[in-house]
Amino acid sequence: MITTLKISCKKATGLIDKRQLVSLTVSETIQLRIHTTICSICRRYEKQSAWIEQAVKHLQEQKPKDLKLSETARNTILEKIIEKK
Ligand SMILES: [Zn+2]
Repeated sequence: MITTLKISCKKATGLIDKRQLVSLTVSETIQLRIHTTICSICRRYEKQSAWIEQAVKHLQEQKPKDLKLSETARNTILEKIIEKK
């Protein structure tokens, strides 16, 4: 039982990445929880991964700024269009 719960750092970081895309199975969640409890490197990886995920989410949520043309720019373009006709 204990040996099946023990996973390598490679597997642990793989699970951390996987968790961002799909939900983990119960055994994967337990394996990862146990691993991050004993492994400070993977714990740090998990933290950084969460931070990056949040930063990406934040960027995705940002709406593009109001891209309306200024009145002057609009008039200049309109003038050019009229000139060409
Ligand atoms: Zn580890």
